Amino acid sequence: MTAQRPTVLVVEDEPAQREILTYNLESEGFRVSTADNGEDALMMVAEEMPDLIVLDWMLPNVSGIEVCRRLKTRPDTRAVPIIMLSARSEEVDRVRGLETGADDYVIKPYSVVELMARARAQLRRTRPASQGQVLDYEDISLDSDTHRVHRGGQLLKLGPTEFRLLATFMEKPGRVWSREQLLDRVWGRDIYVDTRTVDVHVGRLRKALCVHGGEDPLRTVRGAGYALG
Ligand code: CA
Repeated sequence: MTAQRPTVLVVEDEPAQREILTYNLESEGFRVSTADNGEDALMMVAEEMPDLIVLDWMLPNVSGIEVCRRLKTRPDTRAVPIIMLSARSEEVDRVRGLETGADDYVIKPYSVVELMARARAQLRRTRPASQGQVLDYEDISLDSDTHRVHRGGQLLKLGPTEFRLLATFMEKPGRVWSREQLLDRVWGRDIYVDTRTVDVHVGRLRKALCVHGGEDPLRTVRGAGYALG
């Protein structure tokens, strides 16, 4: 489903490079948005937090290094992984790149295959459910490859929306998600859904999780939203 696809923001001022990256990332199943300068990139991140940023070092005005530094010092954007791209190959620049907090660093000209592998590696860390992995939380196990959920060894029946909701919760146990954040993540930005719909589906998910007994693992946080555990 579209809404579950991880989003990547590509920040690159050279149109041909931008196109190659967009094409390859989309082929890998990512939802891609692009910016050709640092100011736009910062604005786009403020509007919709991507799951990954591929950031060119050399950008007009606000450089990639500066964009990276700003995002990594803000508590709300610090966790978004950043892969820096650079034509510079000197070790000192590599060190400088990592010092700004970039999660990875790729030198141009890069191999597309290698860059895609590195993008997937970042997402395995931050969005494991999008990368076909099995997630476990207490006695619940979710296999994002086969779309199966077990609790205490018993197979549970979940609708597609409930599955995506549970995957979102299980990627970050303990995190409190607002209804709006769940709408963005599970239903997608472009669809108009009432926030009460979230409550309905969380209710269904709770029921499905407890069908063979066991405690309700979901927590309603008054005035804030929902959390797993
Ligand atoms: Ca550039």
